[in-house]
Amino acid sequence: MRGLLLRSVRLMRPLEGPALEAVDILIQDGRVEEMGNGMAAPAGSVVVEREGCVVAPAFLDLHTHLREPGQPWKERIATATAAAAAGGFGAVCAMANLRPPVDSVVRLRECLAKNRSWGRVPVLQFAAVSEQLAGQRLAPLGELAGAGAAGFSDDGRNALSQELLRQALEQAGATGRLVAIHPEDEGVLAAANPWGGEDPTAWLLRPREAEVSAVRSALGALRSAGQGRLHLQHLSTSGAVELVREAKREGLPVSAEVTAHHLVLEGPLRDPEARDRELTCNPPLRGDEDRAALWEGLADGTIDVLASDHAPHESPSDPLQRRSPGFSGVQVQLSAVLSDPHGGPLLERLVEALTARPLEVLGRVSEGLPEPAVREGQPAHLTVFDPEGVWRPEAGSWLSLGTNTPFWERPLRGLVLATFTRGRVVFLRRELGGEAELA
Ligand SMILES: [Zn+2]
Repeated sequence: MRGLLLRSVRLMRPLEGPALEAVDILIQDGRVEEMGNGMAAPAGSVVVEREGCVVAPAFLDLHTHLREPGQPWKERIATATAAAAAGGFGAVCAMANLRPPVDSVVRLRECLAKNRSWGRVPVLQFAAVSEQLAGQRLAPLGELAGAGAAGFSDDGRNALSQELLRQALEQAGATGRLVAIHPEDEGVLAAANPWGGEDPTAWLLRPREAEVSAVRSALGALRSAGQGRLHLQHLSTSGAVELVREAKREGLPVSAEVTAHHLVLEGPLRDPEARDRELTCNPPLRGDEDRAALWEGLADGTIDVLASDHAPHESPSDPLQRRSPGFSGVQVQLSAVLSDPHGGPLLERLVEALTARPLEVLGRVSEGLPEPAVREGQPAHLTVFDPEGVWRPEAGSWLSLGTNTPFWERPLRGLVLATFTRGRVVFLRRELGGEAELA
């Protein structure tokens, strides 16, 4: 591409401290060529001059479901990672609950090869904690780590006993990998919904206690483990936030994430295309008190990371059929939180929760990714966005195959203009000379 001069931007520096105001940044041949003030634009370069425009290290999403290999009608690696780049992400972590799950070295190698071929941004592949995610026998964690697993999670299920989780934490810990869990207690869920299956009031059947109980039990496993790091995925309740806060005070090696949808949406939520159909996700969207606790936890660092839990699904062919739970979310993480009144004032913390913190949580396996800092002379690994810019998720702007988002056709604040990963431009809005992929 031609040179890109970003004029008078706000530069986020999650490692160094407060943002720098009014910096000019010239990117040429994939490198941060020069940083300064009052810079002249080299001939032929594209100049971006937008009031309030922000440059930050490229985001890292700790939690996505790419669906491929296994369910390519829901999503492809190529489309999910294009959506990620358009959402400001320079890398994503892919969960192991593919069909079949990534619980062997053979399966892992197949995924790594496909991720490398088709990923627009680097994909760090997680492997399963237990065989078939069934919680009965541990997968060969040491071998999987040696073959390139970035971490371990049975996400989608939470069938591990406390004792097996303890063993998993120790085995994964010996390799420097974290164990991430989907904290919903399957015993509590079964008691709340003894007949199982789909029910239009499903959100009532996934009680808050299921999450609190699972977090309590996982922290118990961590306490008794000799080593290892625990990551709690998609927290949704005030009770879980409080348990994590206490555990961190105690000094336990635990981290936690929240999704944009749990922060900004209150459940239950009606599908705008079919008024009697409910949009659901696991864990379900909660009420005001829980959401206030999530914002507070994010603000004070109890919740480390903002992650999408990108969960694309096809639309049901029968309009009366229920959609599968989960939202296609990687393209709207930043915009959804910035569109909430709580989001703007937390901008620097949000950037940290999308850059430095997820990298730190992932640990030494993230060494293939550059430091989360924008520095002169380095390959560009950054995202450029206008926090006030407005866009709408719709056919012309949406890059995921899954259109299952509660934000569909809703105006959102927070417009990503460009994303670079490890010296390559992976997203460029058309007005900056990008491909005709986005209006
Ligand atoms: Zn989950």
